[in-house]
Amino acid sequence: CWVCLGGCVVLSSLFLKNGANDYLHKPFNSEEFYCRLSQNVDMLEQIATIKRQANTDYLTNLPNRRYFFEETNKSLKKIKNKQGSGALAMLDIDHFKIINDTHGHDVGDEVLKGLSICFSKYFKKYLVASLGGEEFAVYFANADKQEALKRLEGFRYFIEANSQEFSKEKIKFTISIGFADGPVYQIDELLKQADLKLYDAKESGRNKVVS
Ligand code: GH3
Ligand code: MG
Ligand code: MG
Repeated sequence: CWVCLGGCVVLSSLFLKNGANDYLHKPFNSEEFYCRLSQNVDMLEQIATIKRQANTDYLTNLPNRRYFFEETNKSLKKIKNKQGSGALAMLDIDHFKIINDTHGHDVGDEVLKGLSICFSKYFKKYLVASLGGEEFAVYFANADKQEALKRLEGFRYFIEANSQEFSKEKIKFTISIGFADGPVYQIDELLKQADLKLYDAKESGRNKVVS
C-alpha cells in the first residue's frame, strides 16, 4: 500500500544516510542474499587492492614515500608527546647510473629488487620504504642511536660483501647512508637532515654511514 511504501522509502533512506550501502527486503530471497554478499566481498577486495597499490612502490614492493610519510608522522606525533626522539636513515646506491649505463636499465631494476628484499629483511623490526629510484629510508621509532648506527653499518658492510648476489651478471656495488636523529618531529625535516648527511657520505668517498 502507499502508506507502507512511503514508510519503507523513508526508512531505507535513513539507513543509507547512516552509512549502510545495501539492504534486503523481508521476506528475503536467499539467491539475492548470496549475490549481494558476493558483490560486497568483491568490493572489499577491490578497496584493499587499491589501498595496497596506493601505499606500495611498484618496482620493489616496499612501502612507498606516501605510506612512509603518513606512518612516520603519526609515530613522531606520539613520540613528541612523550618527549622522546625518532631517527631516520637515507640509503642511496653508489654510482648507480654507471650500472644502468653499463648493463642496461633492466639489470638496474634487478639490482633494485634484490637490494629491496634484503633491505626489508635486515630491518624487519623497523619501518622501511622506497623513496623512489635508488633511494631508500628506514625509520627508527625510539631506537637507541648507537644500536641503529650499528645495524646500519652492518647492512652497509653486508651489501659491500654480497651485492654480487643480487644480479645474474654478479654486479658489485656499494651504498652510502645518511643518519639523523634528535628532537625533530616533522618527517620532512628529519629527512632533510638525513639527506645532508648522505651528501657528506657521498662527498667524503661513498660506501659509508655518516651521522
Ligand atoms: P651517487 O653515487 O652520487 O648516488 O651516483 P648515482 O649515479 O647513483 O646517482 P644519480 O642520482 O646521478 O643517478 C641515479 C640514477 O638512478 C639515475 C636514474 O637513471 C636511475 N634510476 C632512478 N630510478 C630508477 C629505476 O627505477 N630503475 C633503474 N634501473 N634506474 C633508476
Ligand atoms: Mg640518488
Ligand atoms: Mg646513487
